[in-house]
Amino acid sequence: MTELLTNYAAGRWQAGTGNGTPLFDPVLGHALVRVDSTGLDLAEAFSFARQQGGAALRALTYRERAALLAAIVKVLLANRDAYYEIATANAGTVKNDSGVDIDGAIFTLGQYAKWGDALGDVRALRDGDAARLGKDPAFQSQHLSVPTQGVALCINAFNFPSWGLWEKAAPALLSGVPVIAKPATATAWLTQRMVKDVVDAGVLPAGALSVIAGSSAGLMDQLQPFDVVSFTGSAETAGIIRSHPAVAQRSVRANIEADSLNSALLLPGEAPGSEAFDLLVREVVREMTVKSGQKCTAIRRILVPAAVYDAAAEAIGAKLAGISVGNPRNDSVRMGALVSRAQLASVREGLATLQAHAQVLYDGRDRPLVDADPAVAACIGPVLLGARDADAAQAVHDVEVFGPVATLLPYRDSAHAIALAHRGQGSLVTSLYGSDETALAQTALAVAASHGRVHVVTPDVAQAHSGHGNVMPMSQHGGPGRAGGGAELGGLRALAFYHQRTAVQASPGVLAALGL
Ligand code: NAP
Repeated sequence: MTELLTNYAAGRWQAGTGNGTPLFDPVLGHALVRVDSTGLDLAEAFSFARQQGGAALRALTYRERAALLAAIVKVLLANRDAYYEIATANAGTVKNDSGVDIDGAIFTLGQYAKWGDALGDVRALRDGDAARLGKDPAFQSQHLSVPTQGVALCINAFNFPSWGLWEKAAPALLSGVPVIAKPATATAWLTQRMVKDVVDAGVLPAGALSVIAGSSAGLMDQLQPFDVVSFTGSAETAGIIRSHPAVAQRSVRANIEADSLNSALLLPGEAPGSEAFDLLVREVVREMTVKSGQKCTAIRRILVPAAVYDAAAEAIGAKLAGISVGNPRNDSVRMGALVSRAQLASVREGLATLQAHAQVLYDGRDRPLVDADPAVAACIGPVLLGARDADAAQAVHDVEVFGPVATLLPYRDSAHAIALAHRGQGSLVTSLYGSDETALAQTALAVAASHGRVHVVTPDVAQAHSGHGNVMPMSQHGGPGRAGGGAELGGLRALAFYHQRTAVQASPGVLAALGL
């Protein structure tokens, strides 16, 4: 039997009482460890976090809590090698792709430690200036924010077991709100190990951080009015969260990051071989292949002027042909596995759906895998699809294939391109490629309403830009509509979700005594 990972709840390590669910190596196929949360006293876990963890965190100032984040960074850096090993084994990712998850998390924590330190030794945040409530300045209104007095239940998707944990926990802990992390089962090992290292290092107050690795059953039922739930995952599960009585009736605040049909758009007038054209090709290939396309921000739809459709297909296909796929332990491999055979089946199914509306322009499925058995490994080569009638191909605007798959779509003119970008019904990100600054700025404004982030790539930022799919803590992550309607990160903006904003109406003397 493989090792059974324990849960950290109510300030102690607790094993589930069931047989456990095995986690697998998606390349070699064998079981690695098991997770189980059967029999946990969830009511005790939530009230311990709420009362002990919350009180201890709120007793500290923002600067002191920022120091806790800096201490977490040190613990994670000291154990970084072990995290890479777990990622290779349980996620089947090549080193660079593991880095996006592991080092991306450490970077994000470090940024919040820095920003939190600058907030200083205060326990409430001032929100704007006081405003007179009448002609007489004797009575005024001052907005301020205080930490919510509940727990943050952080439910994560399988594709970012490290970054997904810390990009939520960093702003929550900095805000003074204890975290209960629920990793996706398939890749829960890395999350559990990181929490274990942080708990063992004793850097956080009791109850500040818990992990429940196992079933999600019953978690939402524990939520009370001042708790919050931060969810990342599929649109289907998002629907369950939204309609749960905790959210629908008890007004538990919910942030939802769901799936997204992100796009990349080459502006009109950029010919094949131009710098902008080449930058689009490079970014599309990177986005299709990093983490085998299992990124919520990955480019799924590539919008190009109709005149360059064939040239774009050829250029992207030629670069994809250079991507070796297989066992991430082999240094020649550029792209590892999907997270599981179930995901492989889901990608194949999604491809079949899209192929009914699109042609295959490049097919990496025919290529042999490196050091991996196709009957066992959850590996698949990249596939570029294309639909000459972008308007008619409804499925490509609807179906997110969570793997190394994207669809090339031609547009007639700028207005058509913008309309196609909006067809995603709300996306996390779109990237624009061009050299005309005015046209790029106008397009950025035109697509902003349906996107959480617009990433503009011009030749002068070819080396400097942070990447279409890279979620940087300085920028907002989240999009409207189909993308879930959430907003995470964006620097200190992320703290708003974990705070209650209150207007205090009083005399200037009382307002001054608030010490903000
Ligand atoms: P999922 O199946 O929806 O699962 C997400 C999480 O929800 C997992 O931790 C899962 O636990 C948990 N869960 C399942 N049923 C639940 C319930 N009834 N109540 C509470 N929690 C429940 O999604 P996934 O397959 O892990 O992730 C893939 C999807 O996530 C893709 O569609 C992708 O686009 C999206 N995603 C979005 C973002 C973003 O930031 N917008 C980032 C990454 C991924 P179990 O694993 O134990 O079932």
